[in-house]
Amino acid sequence: MLGRLISYYKIKNNLRLPQFKLDKLINNKFKNIINHSYEKIPFYRQKFDEEGINPQNIHSVNDIEKLPLTIRSEVQQNPIKELISPDVDVNICGTRRTSGSTGVPIKLFVNKEASEIDAATWNRAYFENGLKYFDKMAVIRTERKFAHKNSIFKKLGILRREYILIHQPPETIFNQLIKTKPDVIQTAGSLLFNIARQMPDAKKINPRLTFTSVELLDEAIRETITSTYKTELFDYYSCEEFASIAWECKEHSGYHINADNIIVEVLKNNQPVEPGESGEIYITSLNNYAQPFIRYKLGDIVKLIDSKEKCPCGVSFPKIEVIEGRDNDFITTLDGNVVSIVTLGYMLNRQIRETEGIINFQIIQEKINKIKYNIVINDNFKNRELFITNQIQIVKGCLGDEMNVEVNFVDKINRDPSGKLRTFISNVSKI
Ligand SMILES: [Zn+2]
Repeated sequence: MLGRLISYYKIKNNLRLPQFKLDKLINNKFKNIINHSYEKIPFYRQKFDEEGINPQNIHSVNDIEKLPLTIRSEVQQNPIKELISPDVDVNICGTRRTSGSTGVPIKLFVNKEASEIDAATWNRAYFENGLKYFDKMAVIRTERKFAHKNSIFKKLGILRREYILIHQPPETIFNQLIKTKPDVIQTAGSLLFNIARQMPDAKKINPRLTFTSVELLDEAIRETITSTYKTELFDYYSCEEFASIAWECKEHSGYHINADNIIVEVLKNNQPVEPGESGEIYITSLNNYAQPFIRYKLGDIVKLIDSKEKCPCGVSFPKIEVIEGRDNDFITTLDGNVVSIVTLGYMLNRQIRETEGIINFQIIQEKINKIKYNIVINDNFKNRELFITNQIQIVKGCLGDEMNVEVNFVDKINRDPSGKLRTFISNVSKI
């Protein structure tokens, strides 16, 4: 915890650095990690050599396009010793594992200093959005992510965290939150959404701040959380490979990229797109010397905000305007188009919110022309036929009349190993 606090004070001032100082910091970090990757990481040395790239010719971030792109399957297929630095003792590294929702999970290593910066980066955005030292934060997530308990800080009541296991029935979590009375809740949006829908007294949970992450947050979920709990919600965009990528500030208009930790590129057909145009996000880590990721394709669709005007919050970091969805969070239609789950989800969620008795649902695209619904209901659910008819109508309206829709009423929908409740799963390849 102390290491995290020291890291926090080291990186806190980066938020408001003048542009030329920020550029200098980023360029130095960038050149260092590129040189390191070439010298120490067999995977990158080979990739650079194949393309005839000499790191001595990489002078600044402006040269990033000279470097090869990295895709997830390359990382999945290469032996780990090809991907990590021999200087790093893996026994003292942090390890993370991607959820596998986008294919074979990747186990990755993060050196200690980078792990501390990652944790400090989360805290930096929390403090920026109003977290106070003596706030009690309920962190509802998977067990493997629980921090050590009984630290001196906890005894002093500083940065108190109450950890609650996310793989529990919403009623159990609701009761724990009523008991804990947190000032701040940090969890997946779908969980608070489900509690709001199922527990008549949900509004008794009244955190000053709510920090959501892990999943894509759609507008319906955001509206339900803020109106039910009378809380200010800040969403955080993250992944296992890079930890915190970007975060909403008090302006609630886009997400600030943690530009001192990562370089974000938005590409379409491997070429950069203009700000405001959507493309795929590629990220280069500036801190992880154990297992560097260079121009790594994450698979999410984002837009960069035109950065001529500085954000009124004063933070110098550029912003991502919209996070449209992950590559497997799209439904492919018969005519080959893809529909963002945000669009479809908003419409479906709106009807679901207006229907009593729906506990949970999951939509799986099994085949190009088949959507399967799994729905969990309780005794308050009435008028099954009307609900099914309406949902089918929405799906067909979005995806085409030829789409077959099968509706199943099930007892339970499981979260995936990372704690993410995947509302939409597509088993159809986009390629
Ligand atoms: Zn801002």
